[in-house]
Amino acid sequence: MLKTPVFYKRVNRVTRSIYKGFMAGRGIASKPNACIFTVTKKCNGKCLMCNVWKDKAEDDLGIKDIEKIFSDPLLDSIESLHLYGGEPTLRKDLVGIVKIALKKCKKLKTIGFSTNCVAYKPALEKIKGILEILPQDFEKLNVRLSLDGLEGVHNKVRGLPFVFDNAMLMLEELKKIQKSNSKLGVSIGCVIQPANVHQLDKIYEFIKSNKLEYAFNHLIINPSSFFSNTKNKELTFTDSQIKKITAFLKRISGEQIYEELYTNDIINMYWGKRRSKSRGCVFGYSTIFIENNGDVFMCMNNKSAKLGNALETDLSRIWFSKKADAIRKDIKSYCGTCRSDCGKNWYDIVRYILKKKIGLLK
Ligand code: SF4
Ligand code: SF4
Repeated sequence: MLKTPVFYKRVNRVTRSIYKGFMAGRGIASKPNACIFTVTKKCNGKCLMCNVWKDKAEDDLGIKDIEKIFSDPLLDSIESLHLYGGEPTLRKDLVGIVKIALKKCKKLKTIGFSTNCVAYKPALEKIKGILEILPQDFEKLNVRLSLDGLEGVHNKVRGLPFVFDNAMLMLEELKKIQKSNSKLGVSIGCVIQPANVHQLDKIYEFIKSNKLEYAFNHLIINPSSFFSNTKNKELTFTDSQIKKITAFLKRISGEQIYEELYTNDIINMYWGKRRSKSRGCVFGYSTIFIENNGDVFMCMNNKSAKLGNALETDLSRIWFSKKADAIRKDIKSYCGTCRSDCGKNWYDIVRYILKKKIGLLK
């Protein structure tokens, strides 16, 4: 059977992911292939599980500083860029930021961001603006709509009475755009939390009936993460809720072998255990995280892991510094209880398959 270029691109990506995982296991850093860039911390949401909207909004980097940062050769290997927030679509010059990234990162193939759909009309205009400037060989602009429940539950979690309706309107508009533009990817992001555990099956049914991609993320309580949240009654799971989450995750993880390893880990962490992977995730090897003031971090779940500031020191020097290597080693002590699955890599998956499924590794 003749294989398509898409097949070869996937093989390429998996191979690179295996390589990154292998190198990470040995503590060896190479240029990152993904970048998460906080374009703004401003947010028009009022979410239960996040304190970003309560914090006083800092000034965001201006377009000239962004251009300077993206001109660093460290980012010329970037294939995937995630525009992070706050609410990224609040940035008036979002299209301009994407233009800079496309100009500077020649290997860039995918750009993504999540949106809370609060101001969905201006957000749609920005999405259209970005689609217009994507080069022909660009793969996907991935837009993830936050949906933490159906109707009242979503409105309660997001703290606004109209946000579910806006999410539905935005979804319909994006589906229309998709009909004429295959570069637009649309998915649903749901943060599993006490307020929506009883609706997980319904949310999943909704996603499936709309034939959408999805990500179920897990509440991370940590004042040092970008959520800056702390444990409170509304964010504390009961044992019966954890049992429901366990059953739900087991049911949906059966769909993809890629998910199984992480699902097992995350279920264990819900029950208070540490993740089974000894190396932690490959975040600090494959992905660079740059904040809206130029601060560079090893990952977004530990703000004590600051490597430097990209306005003060060149990114390449920051990334390959002794300090960065020390933090890469040290962060493993933190990874054990972090419910993030953002460091998924095929090296761990292949080892998992060989060990658990085929019995070849001890
Ligand atoms: S979770 Fe996202 S949308 Fe909600 S307040 Fe925080 S940054 Fe804003
Ligand atoms: S597991 Fe969590 S703390 Fe560790 S590197 Fe990944 S995101 Fe950061």
